[in-house]
Amino acid sequence: MGIGDEVMATGFARGAAARGKRIAFGDGRKLIWGPWCEEAFRHNPNIARRADESGIEWCHYYKGNRHYNRLDAARRRWIWNYEFKAKPGEFYFTELERQAHRPGTVLIEPNVPWHKSVAVNKDWGAGRYQMLADRLKRTGWRVLQSSYGEVRLFNVETISVDSFRQAAALAAGVDLVITPEGGLHHAAAAVGTRAIVIFGGFIPPAVTGYNAHINLTGDAEACGSLHRCDHCRRALDQIEVDHVFTLADAELRQRNETTSERIARI
Ligand SMILES: [Zn+2]
Repeated sequence: MGIGDEVMATGFARGAAARGKRIAFGDGRKLIWGPWCEEAFRHNPNIARRADESGIEWCHYYKGNRHYNRLDAARRRWIWNYEFKAKPGEFYFTELERQAHRPGTVLIEPNVPWHKSVAVNKDWGAGRYQMLADRLKRTGWRVLQSSYGEVRLFNVETISVDSFRQAAALAAGVDLVITPEGGLHHAAAAVGTRAIVIFGGFIPPAVTGYNAHINLTGDAEACGSLHRCDHCRRALDQIEVDHVFTLADAELRQRNETTSERIARI
């Protein structure tokens, strides 16, 4: 559906080079790379760049053949494949791309891919993200937003990024990411950063979620609806700012307690 798919691809390819292999994404004869592949796969030694390389293993995973979903007969919703489970991907950053760790920080992303019909079914609402940001700030945490996306939070630090890789590198240096299901939650998993992921009722955490994250569905079964869906709205409305704040604050405390605090707790 976007770069998240390609970040998942790097999870399938993980470890290939250590086995003397490279993974070729395509149909068994030719590589099939979408517009995000180059950026997601850059410097990744596990992924083949040519179909005629030696030691390649084919992975038939590409746009139109994503394994985790298929359209229903009416082409109005995705049917999810519960046999599929995303594995954390990986990025190979250069020294220039790598960002320093920013202690006590949370990266909040309120934007969903607005140009897609499903966006409305993933949108928790700018007002809720803002309330969450305000409370986290009042509690003493640093709240960041990347410069990507048209919905802007007020009174937070904007970190300039000009590519998805930079956003992923930024995610690597924070203590927590709060984001809708999508590219950034896949990136957070790939860089090993904890995340609170607003899933709602569109897509199930069992398929594209990661066990290391806190995945919030609003207690809904995922419907896969490609169009505005009341069930998805209700699911998102079930996810309360108060609850997300409590979870986020606890995560940030855990990551920022001093050694003496940790000893006191033990
Ligand atoms: Zn729905």
